[in-house]
Parts: sequence; C-alpha cells; structure tokens
Amino acid sequence: MPKTVLITGASRGIGAKIAELFAEKGYNIALNYNKSENDAISLCEKINSRLKGIAHTFKADVSNYEDVRNMVNAIYKNFGGIDILVNNAGISQQLLFTDITPKMWSDMIGTNLTGVYNCCHCVLPKMIFNHCGCIINIASMWGETGGSCEVHYSAAKAGVIGLTKALAKEVAPSNIRVNCVSPGVIMTDMMSGFSDDTVSQLKEETPLCRLGTVEDVANAVLFLADDRAASFITGQVLSVNGGILI
Ligand code: NAP
Repeated sequence: MPKTVLITGASRGIGAKIAELFAEKGYNIALNYNKSENDAISLCEKINSRLKGIAHTFKADVSNYEDVRNMVNAIYKNFGGIDILVNNAGISQQLLFTDITPKMWSDMIGTNLTGVYNCCHCVLPKMIFNHCGCIINIASMWGETGGSCEVHYSAAKAGVIGLTKALAKEVAPSNIRVNCVSPGVIMTDMMSGFSDDTVSQLKEETPLCRLGTVEDVANAVLFLADDRAASFITGQVLSVNGGILI
C-alpha cells in the first residue's frame, strides 16, 4: 500500500519539486495550493500521466485552521490517511522593520508559522493513533541567523525551528519524527524581488559557488522522509545552503 504525503504550497517552486520526487518513488501525493490553481492542476496531471504516484489537488489557505481541517479530512477520504506531512507553504517580504505594519506581521506569522501549527495540529492525532508518522518543516537560513530587512520572516522561520525541536521531543515516543530542512538561497519565484546584483553577490558569498536548486531541497526532504535512511534522526535542522551559513 503506497504511503501518502501531504505537501503544502506544492503548486510552485520547492513544493512542486518535492511533490515530483515523492511521485517518482510511487507515493500518493496530496498537493496543497492556495492561489495558483492552474499550476497545481497541471502538476497533478503531469504526476498522474507520467510518474508512478497518484496525485490529487487540495485547495486550502494554511493560515486558516478551518481550511486546513477540511483539507485534511478530504485527504483522509481520498487516500485513507497521511503518513508524511511536508510544511512547505510560505511567503516572504523584504522591507525595513519600521515599515512592517501589524497586518504584514500577522500575515507573515500566519502563513509561515501558524500554518505549520495548523497542519501539524490537524494531522497529528491520526499519526499518534497509528504510532507512526513523519513531519518535515521547511525553515530558512534566516530563521537560523536572522536576516536584515526580513525581521518578520526571520522570526516566523526561527519559530518553525523551535516548534520542530519541541514537537520532536513530544511525539518521539509515538514513533513520529519531526525535522526541518533549512534552505539557503534557492532560485524560485520567491527570489524574484531580489535584483540581479544581489543574486550575484549571494552566489559569490556561497562557498560552493552556486545558488541552490529546488532539487537540492527536495532531495533533503526525501532523505528525512525515508524511515530507514533517517530512522534515528529527529528534531534536527538540515541546512541546504551551499555553505553560506556554517
Ligand atoms: P514560492 O515559489 O514563492 O512558492 C510558495 C508556495 O507556497 C506556493 O506554492 C504558494 O501557493 C504556497 N503558499 C503561499 N501562501 C500559502 C498559503 N497561505 N496557503 C497555502 N499555500 C501557500 O516559494 P519557494 O521558494 O518554493 O518557497 C517554499 C518554502 O521554502 C517556503 O516556506 C520558503 O519560505 C522556503 N524557503 C525558500 C527559500 C528560497 O530561497 N526560495 C529559502 C529558504 C526557505 P499558491 O501560489 O498556490 O498560493
């Protein structure tokens, strides 16, 4: 019986690649999206026509608890369960701390941190009942070190790291592993707000002399999800950053 993985924010970027790699391994794929319906549908069609796994799309705003609860129930009806949860959905924004409005702050925390709480909270009861499960949260190097002009983003991602470590301790006796992947600079739509000069500078600052790809991050997620390869790994932050932060 194939395992089912729920990937939030799977319509584009890193989440879409994570979905493809799991599909290549034959998993059932619950593809969450919020706004990019067409992208999610075409990825779903690609998986179902060309890759081993079976995919379905599920619309939900991860910052909204009711949306997440409905999505999780719909996935249970469709696939019978959720074995692996990948909390990938996220937003970013660059501006001075003094320009961050209360709404910007709550949107950032709502999507990037509360979204992780919402999904974990809705998925965990069945994982605990089954005495089995795996959660992988996508953090960021800015959550490890703090990024100037990204205070709200850094705070949310630092929160994801704290949540991961604490939850890992709490649910380990239920045979559930919880880990983070913490990407460095990965070329996706999220980087479109950065100038070419900034991107070149970030590349120069990276010891491995290149920017990250969606495959780099997705491969790390696949490793952590592997119950044999990563069976003794929980509560950890796996940095995928080319050495830019060591
Ligand atoms: P991206 O290309 O901008 O994609 C973001 C994804 O998140 C989209 O699929 C989007 O879905 C989804 N999303 C956003 N808000 C959502 C919400 N409220 N509910 C459900 N889905 C939502 O970004 P990315 O680079 O792939 O980033 C993926 C993750 O990696 C994020 O958590 C990000 O913080 C983290 N990360 C990225 C980098 C980087 O350099 N790119 C570095 C470190 C960490 P819709 O379009 O359907 O709304």
